[in-house]
Amino acid sequence: MAEEVATEKTEETKKKYNVDSFNLDHTKVTAPFVRLAAKKVGRKGDVVTKFDIRFCQPNKECMTTGAIHTLEHLVAEYIRDELKGVIDFSPMGCRTGFYFTIWGDHDEAYIAEHMMNVLKKVAVWDKPIPAATEKECGNYRDHDLEGAKKWAAKWVEGIEKTGYNCYK
Ligand code: ZN
Repeated sequence: MAEEVATEKTEETKKKYNVDSFNLDHTKVTAPFVRLAAKKVGRKGDVVTKFDIRFCQPNKECMTTGAIHTLEHLVAEYIRDELKGVIDFSPMGCRTGFYFTIWGDHDEAYIAEHMMNVLKKVAVWDKPIPAATEKECGNYRDHDLEGAKKWAAKWVEGIEKTGYNCYK
């Protein structure tokens, strides 16, 4: 069995599916946002929190594979300069955002603040994409720096304008 002993579910995730995000009503949220998606408490009291870092309005827009891939490389690399205890930053299959998983009991405001610092840098990125070589990446030809910068800028602008909450 896994180490996890408890999962504190957020309001919208008290039903139907095993996967937390399947229970989110995607018609009720307004992107961009930062949403606490799950909180897991281990046997020894360690806490892991998982956040929905949304860039695109669900079912209205989505990123190209190249743009989301490049954004993944940049944020996955540089968020680790911002925050300790990062576990993972991974794209959603629907290509509207990412899951960000980290050790510790963090709140949305804290994650939004640090994500903002990284995405402001990404929005004006003029250096090479980290680890975008055949040796370091599983699909190194499929990158789009301009697309990644566009979505980073849009996220920054949106959060600055209307805040990080998913329910505006
Ligand atoms: Zn890659």
